[in-house]
Amino acid sequence: MKELSTQTAFSRRKFLFSGAAAAVGGALALTGARPARGVESPAPARTQPGLALPDLPYAYDALEPTIDARTMEIHYGRHHAGYARNLADALQDDPVAAGRPLESLLADINVLPSNIQTSVRNNGGGHWNHNLFWEVMSPEGGGEPVGVLGEAIDAEFGDFETMREQFSEAAATRFGSGWAWLMVDQNGALAITSTPNQDNPLMRGIVDELGTPILGLDVWEHAYYLLYQNRRGDYINAWWDVVNWPHVDTLYRMALG
Ligand code: MN
Repeated sequence: MKELSTQTAFSRRKFLFSGAAAAVGGALALTGARPARGVESPAPARTQPGLALPDLPYAYDALEPTIDARTMEIHYGRHHAGYARNLADALQDDPVAAGRPLESLLADINVLPSNIQTSVRNNGGGHWNHNLFWEVMSPEGGGEPVGVLGEAIDAEFGDFETMREQFSEAAATRFGSGWAWLMVDQNGALAITSTPNQDNPLMRGIVDELGTPILGLDVWEHAYYLLYQNRRGDYINAWWDVVNWPHVDTLYRMALG
């Protein structure tokens, strides 16, 4: 990792005020991490996320056969890139908002200037959600979480399989487009929830259950339709094979603070 620049050091200080959520969706944006295949992802940098599209941390075909290369190319290169670009466009005339951490904008959507609320919700949400989504998958993924997260899942849900079933159910029953989440709720407990469109549990006043997401599954059709067509359940079942549990464990410990 590069040495801390002045800018990064400044951002580190800002992180201290913006909470652990700032690190979750923002790690890729600042590190520009692009580890080679087979190399474990570096620990996320505790810095303010930028608005720029981060590098994908693996090749388009790295998650095959679970997620095909063409889907990854379109999903990252067009859908995610579009959210990032549209968010930057919406904030270009609002330097105050553009200078704030994305997590802070998402938490404060209802008190943002009205002319940027919708774009921050849809494009800012989309940008943050996809940053997290790429991070929590890995070609070396799958299996079950161990360590602190594994113990917390057992304590909260009884066992890993029960958590997986509840999460899968949340993903399968989300009507239309949206996300399923494993998050740390406001009491510090693990919880499963789902949100429509590009909403996420950081959005105060928008979602019923607030929290810091540590694992998210995109169930928009653009995430799976080329390979799985209408079979969302097959996509959900296969997806567990690429979940990067060591990274989710890192995010869990960061969210606890
Ligand atoms: Mn998506």
